[in-house]
Amino acid sequence: MSAGTVYDVIVVGAGSVGMSAGYHLAARGLRTLLLDAFDPPHTGGSHHGEPRLIRHVYGGGPHYVRLALRADALWRELETMTGERLLERSGVLNMSDHGEYSFEGRLADADREGVHYELLDAGEIAKRWPGFAPPPSYAGLYEPDAGYLFSERCVAAYRRQALAAGAELLTNTAALAIEPGPGGSGVKVKTSRGVFEAGGAIVSAGAWFKTLEPSVSLPVAPVRKVVGWFEADERLYAAGTLPGFTFGGLGGGYYGFPSIGGAGVKIGRHDGGQPWLPGEPLAPFGAHPDDEANLRRALESMLPGAAGRLLRGAACRYELSPDEQFIVAADPALPGVLLAGGFSGHGFKFASALGEALAVWAATDRPPADLLPFGLSRFAPPASAPIPS
Ligand SMILES: Cc1cc2nc3c(=O)[nH]c(=O)nc-3n(C[C@H](O)[C@H](O)[C@H](O)COP(=O)(O)OP(=O)(O)OC[C@H]3O[C@@H](n4cnc5c(N)ncnc54)[C@H](O)[C@@H]3O)c2cc1C
Repeated sequence: MSAGTVYDVIVVGAGSVGMSAGYHLAARGLRTLLLDAFDPPHTGGSHHGEPRLIRHVYGGGPHYVRLALRADALWRELETMTGERLLERSGVLNMSDHGEYSFEGRLADADREGVHYELLDAGEIAKRWPGFAPPPSYAGLYEPDAGYLFSERCVAAYRRQALAAGAELLTNTAALAIEPGPGGSGVKVKTSRGVFEAGGAIVSAGAWFKTLEPSVSLPVAPVRKVVGWFEADERLYAAGTLPGFTFGGLGGGYYGFPSIGGAGVKIGRHDGGQPWLPGEPLAPFGAHPDDEANLRRALESMLPGAAGRLLRGAACRYELSPDEQFIVAADPALPGVLLAGGFSGHGFKFASALGEALAVWAATDRPPADLLPFGLSRFAPPASAPIPS
């Protein structure tokens, strides 16, 4: 860090999306400063307790499918650059009660983008993967090219690549406020280690956006989430035998992974959780009476041979936007500042592509088309009706 350097872009929050953006900015030759309140990868954000599912059949619009495919290609590129295994193409099986939720709504976009999938009934699922025990009313959508990402390894890999491409990184340095730069041009980022200036900024603070108010504000609600690893019959549930999975049932939505290297089947619940206030301690796994019991009940109902001893538990944070869709937008009050957050518990898979798209936006001052649906205007209050005279 040389005194008085004015950067092209400062990235505030070098986690999943920010570290990727840092690499893509530096690779484009932009003078890039990455700031993080911790030392990424770390357990203070949303990316620890790997792995994370990556799927390509997506609800929510065709832009999600295109971004997922681009993200997949970029994760492979990162693997090639680093020589590291980051993505395991295990396949992912999504299961739901056909009477309550049908996959059909997601298929048109997947078909258009050429994503491979198979539709299976409960009998076919149990025959192919005897570890799953879906009730007869369940159906499955299987994506053979989907899988899981080692999220902490991914963040570490982008960190190394970003530094190799010339980015600078300040760890354990929290941004405190973001303001217009001198004379109103560019930005000034006030931190626990001084003030830094740049032409623009990307703010990707995950579950911690609230700590940047009032200079930056984004409607992101942080939520405590837990995941558990349970002892499983390795003949049925080991990686290489069982795919990644999601299922609805027991009034909730669950996702999970095969037992990787004997670590046990990992399972988490997508909905629910407890509100968490940034800065407060995050209650560890087991602090809430239902942490283990809820996950165990889900396993007993759908993967009965994987409901063994709890081997490990972890608590992490979701960063929910009001509609659980992403927010990637120009800050309406701070010119030159891009906000990226609200990834709502499904953002990791996209981090490589989101980082690239943010870098393109910062470099060209034009938002890539697939980011447009993530704008803030969708939360604008409806125009008030004219008052009748
Ligand atoms: C249990 C769990 C399971 C999940 N499963 C999946 C899955 O299977 N598939 C999937 O795609 N997604 C999944 N997700 C979601 C995914 O992990 C997140 O959406 C994603 O990691 C969010 O990325 P981010 O960059 O916004 O946040 P983070 O990776 O948390 O990065 C934010 C960074 O900002 C830093 N920061 C915050 N405030 C400041 C500040 N003031 N100054 C400087 N730095 C700051 C933090 O230290 C952090 O490093 C899961 C999440 C959890 C918790």
